Amino acid sequence: TYILGIETSCDETAAAIVKNGQEIVSNVVASQIDSHKRFGGVVPEIASRHHVEQMTVVLEQTFEQAGMDWDDVDAVAVTEGPGLVGALLVGVNAAKALAFARQKPLVGVHHIAGHIYANRFQSEFEFPLLALIVSGGHTELVLMHEHGSYELIGETRDDAAGEAYDKVARVLELPYPGGPQIDKLAAEGEESIAFPRAWLGEDSYDFSFSGLKSSVINTIHNAAQRGESFRKEDIAASFQASVVDVLTAKTWKAAQAYQARQVIVAGGVAANGGLRSALTAKFDGSGIPLLIPPLKLCTDNAAMIAAAGFVNYEHGKRSGWDLNANPSLPLK
Ligand code: ATP
Ligand code: MG
Ligand code: FE
Repeated sequence: TYILGIETSCDETAAAIVKNGQEIVSNVVASQIDSHKRFGGVVPEIASRHHVEQMTVVLEQTFEQAGMDWDDVDAVAVTEGPGLVGALLVGVNAAKALAFARQKPLVGVHHIAGHIYANRFQSEFEFPLLALIVSGGHTELVLMHEHGSYELIGETRDDAAGEAYDKVARVLELPYPGGPQIDKLAAEGEESIAFPRAWLGEDSYDFSFSGLKSSVINTIHNAAQRGESFRKEDIAASFQASVVDVLTAKTWKAAQAYQARQVIVAGGVAANGGLRSALTAKFDGSGIPLLIPPLKLCTDNAAMIAAAGFVNYEHGKRSGWDLNANPSLPLK
């Protein structure tokens, strides 16, 4: 079974063809980072316009790379939400038009289910599976008992992890997107500042990053008033240590409590070097296999959407021609 995936929820226009939800045949991502950089963040209206311009080109490249044509594709999977509504609409309408014209089944996909399924290219899933989702808009612990089923056991009460990275990066005057920049600086710095860790109580699997963000801002501000300053590298290293400590400890605790047979990491922040090495060290020798996607499958792409779409397709789930973009679609 070959699924064509389409993803346009934020600032990458992406299409991919995936075999049986586990094998990438082709994977094309057109990033808009350069267009948004000078504004310090994603401008929704610009994102939508770029998706319209790029969609056809990206689809042509996807078929060309695969050496396939429409006859070879069994269904079209598309991100229906969550994300920017105008951006999502471009992908949803392209998918609807193409599936209708080529008489292929249409399958709507949740963007975060996609991030989770980016891990299935490495290994088959083992249940119960615990997923740590750390992206630009989400920080969640999700338990899966079978393919396509998601139970939320913890989530952020304020900022998402990626959002915290991007906001702290802005304070440090680093270019957008800030996550990779802080990651790089952190590797050169020392954890010399004791930023707070938000544990939120003994049994909580929830997260909070806004207090940490404020603490970073206050530390820089107060130092400046005293005529002092910190090295950006040390602020980055200290900030990252706080984020990574909490993410690693809560994931470890949940893996034990729910007797997970596999732990996976998903979303853009899964590309973070500090997080990858802390989680790897924690789970090494524990008997619980840990999966983290290769760097280019951590951030938005359509291979992950096709892989999650394959599961929906196998379960007989089909979307109608009235499929609409839903910017706040719940994961269930
Ligand atoms: P969502 O998936 O929640 O809808 P999104 O699609 O915008 O949000 P992703 O593409 O999954 O988010 O990830 C982008 C985020 O990942 C950004 O906040 C970016 O700063 C962060 N990020 C990317 N690489 C790294 C890194 N190496 N270290 C830390 N953060 C990173
Ligand atoms: Mg992105
Ligand atoms: Fe994403």
